[in-house]
Amino acid sequence: MSASLQSKLPDVGTTIFSVMSQLAAEHGAINLSQGYPDFDPPQALLDALTHAVQNGANQYAPMAGLPALCEVLGEKHRVLYGHEGDWASQITVTVGATEALFSAVQALVHAGDEVIVLDPAYDAYEPAVRLAGGSVRRVPLYSDDFSVDWQRVEEAIGPRTRLLMLNFPHNPTGAVLSREDLDTLEGLLERHSITLVSDEVYEHMVYDGRPHLSLLTRPALAARTVVVSSFGKTCHCTGWKIGYCTAPAPITEEIRKVHQFVPFAVSTPMQKALAEFTAQHPEHHEALPAFYQAKRDLFVSLLEGSRLTLTPTPSTYFQLVDYSALSELDDVAYARHLTMEVGVAAIPVSVFCESFDRRLVRFCFAKDDATLRQAAETLCQL
Ligand code: PMP
Ligand code: GLN
Repeated sequence: MSASLQSKLPDVGTTIFSVMSQLAAEHGAINLSQGYPDFDPPQALLDALTHAVQNGANQYAPMAGLPALCEVLGEKHRVLYGHEGDWASQITVTVGATEALFSAVQALVHAGDEVIVLDPAYDAYEPAVRLAGGSVRRVPLYSDDFSVDWQRVEEAIGPRTRLLMLNFPHNPTGAVLSREDLDTLEGLLERHSITLVSDEVYEHMVYDGRPHLSLLTRPALAARTVVVSSFGKTCHCTGWKIGYCTAPAPITEEIRKVHQFVPFAVSTPMQKALAEFTAQHPEHHEALPAFYQAKRDLFVSLLEGSRLTLTPTPSTYFQLVDYSALSELDDVAYARHLTMEVGVAAIPVSVFCESFDRRLVRFCFAKDDATLRQAAETLCQL
């Protein structure tokens, strides 16, 4: 008798990031689709990794993370966000932010639970919820400036709502939270017994002099939240796949029950290198907003001569462009057209939404200036 295979995610295909990067490679397009830098991490970080590998850091790390790394991250949270936490019981090092999100959702969501996500929502959220036996309720961001419609969020909260997943700075729109948003969120948590997952992987890419308003800055929010971060973004090393999550000790205990049976632990030499680098080079993350803002400004100025309409980008390393002056195609078809025919790969925005009919695609500007110039030159010819 042949085994019967029943998919747990029958409607889920390959993630858009793999699809578009592969298409870009096949067609030799400049890849501004999947979000990753086309430049290397800082030399000091690479040297620290070589040193770690050459000096015995090659066996399993402790399950929750290398203490030296968790400690330096706890100190960073204290200095940056005023968060007085206990790193040993609150910080867990994970295989990228992706594993932090997955482990947190598996630990917190029970069968039949509902999880609220804000559309556009990063594509990893819903499959994790469904694999935990839960379902997702999607609340759209306002379509003009992509801010949060808190009234709709509150109306979506029901007796089965377990989690609200937030992602600010927001991928793909670049929206950020204001102090008023945090006030509103505090009020909401007083009325509802939900937990938050706050995906803050773009914490160091907030521009125009604004600070990043982490949920860790508010004790009342931090007490109910899993905050997710990524070294891939912060240290230009997406391929290392290291992230971490910070949560109150009882939540962390549950997350670690999952984490210990997903990867068990994360790469020892990379944790060692990141601990050393983070402690010795605070100027690295301090310089990131200016570094990426300069790339945003360059890309925006280069596209001024194009027929694309750019939406403001207060954060992240993504630029949304409206192409309605150029094409009637839907965004998925247009992103494929850009990749295959024009030679610049992009990500369609509708794949992050239940329903979305605007003609918007996303470009990643975490690229060498020469790459941005070459891409913009091509796009200006459209
Ligand atoms: N969340 C968001 C919003 C992201 O954009 C990404 C990746 N770009 C991740 C999570 C995953 O991060 P990592 O590569 O560290 O797993
Ligand atoms: N988060 C990255 C993006 O938005 C991609 C990560 C991935 O490929 N899984 O482009």
